[in-house]
Amino acid sequence: MPTDTILSNATANFNRAAEMLSGEFDRDLLDKIAQPKEKIEITVGPQFDDGTIHTLKVFVVRHSDALGPAKGGIRMTPDVTLDDVAGLAMEMTWKCALMSLPFGGGKSGIVADPHDLDEYNKETLIRSYTRAAMRHIGPMIYVPAPDMGTNERDMGYVKDTIAYSAGQAGTQGCYVTGKPVILGGIPGRREATGRGVVETVAEACKALDLSLTGASAVVQGFGNVGGVAAAALRQRGAKVIAVSDLHGAIHNPAGLDVPALLEHHAKTSRLEGFPNGEAMDGKEMLELPCDILVAAAAASQITAENAPRVKAKLLAEGANSPTTPKADEILAENNVFVIPDILCNAGGVFVSYLEYTQETQQEQWTEEEVRARLAKRMCQKFAEVASTAEARKLSMREAAMYQAVKTVANALIARGKLP
Ligand code: NAD
Repeated sequence: MPTDTILSNATANFNRAAEMLSGEFDRDLLDKIAQPKEKIEITVGPQFDDGTIHTLKVFVVRHSDALGPAKGGIRMTPDVTLDDVAGLAMEMTWKCALMSLPFGGGKSGIVADPHDLDEYNKETLIRSYTRAAMRHIGPMIYVPAPDMGTNERDMGYVKDTIAYSAGQAGTQGCYVTGKPVILGGIPGRREATGRGVVETVAEACKALDLSLTGASAVVQGFGNVGGVAAAALRQRGAKVIAVSDLHGAIHNPAGLDVPALLEHHAKTSRLEGFPNGEAMDGKEMLELPCDILVAAAAASQITAENAPRVKAKLLAEGANSPTTPKADEILAENNVFVIPDILCNAGGVFVSYLEYTQETQQEQWTEEEVRARLAKRMCQKFAEVASTAEARKLSMREAAMYQAVKTVANALIARGKLP
């Protein structure tokens, strides 16, 4: 297997957990848990508005349904592979289990560059994905959500395509989360992952005896997760000294005005040109001296190569799989406290669960209720993982994986012999 990929990182983390659990469960059961339940590759050929047909692949993976229907976002990037989707689906299995949600893990991939698509053609492609993948989507099968390259509007198109195909005004039950509020979405879903990241950062600061007020923070990625996390960090008194996106980074040691930067980025789609900061290289930014580093961009950004130069006291994994297993070892040797992805960025799927129950029960939640429940669950889970880590002398990642895999194993045993 190639190294430093999403799947190899996820597999290495699982193998470590399986080792820890080998005295408690049969190896056969642990081997079964590692394998994806279903991996689907579909070819779609939507016709765009200029009349051209674009033939491309879409993927759906259901890694596990031991705890319930598979849950996980739709990633649209030009280089996403079936293996990436399998690795991400596996991570979703652990994340849902760790957060005590009645969901298994799943994920979708669409091999396309959203930046190459105007709104009309992106809608066409999302509808094409939905039509092709529809028999794998359902409230008791797999419930998608946004991920890199897809957003709230796209989830509205997913819901509409399914409702339209059934000749109905809506869907019975929840087929997709992260939808616009007007179509049954929940207030605060878009911000949930970034806010959840900062809840765990605040808890980690307490554990490290580090004041969040005045702490210096660096944020990689300025999209859905990174943008919201940067704003929430500043709101809670941290000094955000640098942020980056795919095109580069912007740095101001005195602290960036994040709301103004968000406005500038929304207008120009670039960080560069922001008046109150200096442009810098995105890779070098990861090595800036700071208290908190939030990795909220892509996979395998902290590797064996750059990990020795990471100077942050705390690394918050807003992205999925941003740290390779080798880098993890180096960070541990250097006493960098890592909040692992399956805990750190689980706020999104937790609020998706609230959306799922809201839609199933035809309820209406307020944003205050959503934020309060999000904060409570993130703090509760941070405390549980920290206590397992302390009791068993494990890192936070090992403790989170230990709890998650154990939960899935117990669910499989509770289901009996057939599944
Ligand atoms: P997004 O597409 O909204 O934003 C991604 C951001 O990262 C963009 O600013 C992009 O320019 C930047 N980026 C990409 N590659 C980069 C690189 N090499 N260096 C610096 N910046 C880079 O995506 P998102 O929804 O914010 O997701 C970011 C990460 O968080 C992904 O790993 C995703 O799987 C994970 N995640 C997202 C959610 C969610 O609710 N959106 C939930 C859990 C995990």
